[in-house]
Amino acid sequence: MVAAVLVPFVGFAIFVDMQMAQRLSKQVVLSSLEGLADDLAGRIDRDIADRRGDLWQWTRSPSVREALWEPEIAPVLHGKPSKWGPETILSWREGTLPSPDPHERRREITAWLDQGVTQERAYDLILLVGPRGRLVTCNSIQPDGEPMSAELIRALFDRDYAGEDWFRRCLAEGSVAEDQHVSDLLPPRNAEPGVHPENYHLAFGGAVHDLYEPDRVIGVVYTLVNWIHVHERVREELLISIFRGLVGPESPPTPYAWVWADDADTILAHPMLENYGLRVSQPPIALPQLVAAARSADSGLYPEYEFVGKRKNAAFRRCMGREEGGFGWVVGVGINNEDIYQAVGELRRLLYRATGMVALIVVLWTMIIARRTTGPILALQHHTRRVASGDLDARIAIRTGDELQELGEDFNRMSAELKANREQLVRAEKDAAWREMARQVAHDIKNPLTPIKLSADLLKRAREESSPQFDEIFDRTLATISRQVEHLREIASDFHALTGAMRHRPESFDLERAVREVLEFNAAWAEASGIAVKLEGRGGRVHLDRGLLRRVLLNLVSNAFEAMPDGGELGVSLQVRDGRVRLEVRDTGSGLSEEVRAHLFEPYFTTRSQGTGLGLAIARRAIEEMGGEIEVVPAPEGGPPGTVARLWLPLEETDRPT
Ligand code: ADP
Ligand code: MG
Repeated sequence: MVAAVLVPFVGFAIFVDMQMAQRLSKQVVLSSLEGLADDLAGRIDRDIADRRGDLWQWTRSPSVREALWEPEIAPVLHGKPSKWGPETILSWREGTLPSPDPHERRREITAWLDQGVTQERAYDLILLVGPRGRLVTCNSIQPDGEPMSAELIRALFDRDYAGEDWFRRCLAEGSVAEDQHVSDLLPPRNAEPGVHPENYHLAFGGAVHDLYEPDRVIGVVYTLVNWIHVHERVREELLISIFRGLVGPESPPTPYAWVWADDADTILAHPMLENYGLRVSQPPIALPQLVAAARSADSGLYPEYEFVGKRKNAAFRRCMGREEGGFGWVVGVGINNEDIYQAVGELRRLLYRATGMVALIVVLWTMIIARRTTGPILALQHHTRRVASGDLDARIAIRTGDELQELGEDFNRMSAELKANREQLVRAEKDAAWREMARQVAHDIKNPLTPIKLSADLLKRAREESSPQFDEIFDRTLATISRQVEHLREIASDFHALTGAMRHRPESFDLERAVREVLEFNAAWAEASGIAVKLEGRGGRVHLDRGLLRRVLLNLVSNAFEAMPDGGELGVSLQVRDGRVRLEVRDTGSGLSEEVRAHLFEPYFTTRSQGTGLGLAIARRAIEEMGGEIEVVPAPEGGPPGTVARLWLPLEETDRPT
């Protein structure tokens, strides 16, 4: 039963497992990759849009315009010309700027730029450059809030920007966006040898126009955005946390992202810093099929590939192009196949665990249900056995409230009916037995009555006729009558012996003597029938009802004689053994058929017309009540055919050998 329940379950689990392994999990992982690539490209696009938004604000701010005009207006307003430059910035920062301040706007803008740098934490440098390429002002503190060094500020002010490409392009085209590069405006943030994302920058520049003469450029705002912010986006932490849910907490997954330049070949950002600047299509990477895939569409999955000895799957998405204000980068997100299959494995383990749990519950449940069913069946079985062994009072109690309970109730009804039937049967059998016995007794009594009646009639007639032989007739009929009366008495006592309680009057006597008397009593019969009688062995003294034993012996002897109507041999033997005496009466008569043997001891079983069939029945009862045993069996093979009647009788205590 448990197997029957488990097989479909396990089958189901395997089926789901196969389906899952083939499609679900890889599919899930791949579409997660695509989703991640989309997401990442979107974030980067938003970052760039934010930077452009900042620039838009600064280039269009009236304060910036005023600040640009200030050196020309201020002397007019305040009467004493002075120069806003590094020294004023430094003393302003130290709070030692003399008051009133003729460079209010520039101070204000410097504070604003400082705020932009520390708030956004994206900019390393924001320059406000005048129309002739001289620095008007710049931020005075770094993104981390630390003051920029005096040398750097001085260097920035000393520099002539008129020759810078970005400056010229801003003047000519109104704006400029520079892809990843190393700027010479700032010292490297990380001077250690090797690749450091924080040493790279993006740059955005825009022209500031005169409010009243919109075609006239009065300055340029130029911002350097640190590359570390793009690099941050391709760091694994974010991706790992997304994939961790899929793979499971035991082992961290290996997804990683990268940014390629708009040629879909040059690596701009990669978690492995040594890959910065490498070209994907060229050695040592040499995966031109990825470059081809990324060039052929804006987004999708790369063909499965191998890199650093691991099979991988990856998805890509192109960022905003130049025309939309971006750089046309390609963002990729990849994962090792191991992780995909680990995800499958994780799901599989989950599935197996769940299946195991459910199967366990189902098995337990089945066992409980089965027990509920088999319990009553076992009870029924037990009950059936009790009834079969004759215990009709057995009753069963099943309280399941279903067909089993009905079956139990039917069973109880059945055994009750059986009991009633059996009682009826026993009564009927008893009645039949008594009727049969009464019939036999009546029949037995009828036989002697007829000669008695005839004798009486004969006697009466002889007297009426005054027969001269009256005396002789009288004697003869009297003898007949008394013989028949004696027969009647025997019948009565037989019947009594069989049915009534036998009263044993034990007395001590010599068994051999008693046997001899019985044989002598029948000596005339033996002689008339031509039977040779032999007595051998020695008996001992017994303490039994002598009359009863004599009657048993007489019956055994007469049975033997009756089996030998044409003469034969009667051998009687006595043998003492183990405190008992064995007595055998052997004849060479007709023997016993199987049929006769089976019924020998039944009352009224007889094969003789004159027989009562009570002899052996009485004998067995008497002998067993004396504490002995009786059997009547065919004569042993090898000797003459015939029958052996065998008795074992207890010896008198004092006569037992000690
Ligand atoms: P009955 O002598 O009145 O027939 P018994 O009970 O003494 O009744 O014997 C029953 C039957 O057993 C006999 O009718 C007879 O068929 C059989 N039987 C008993 N003893 C012998 C014997 N020695 N040889 C053959 N048959 C015997
Ligand atoms: Mg007999």
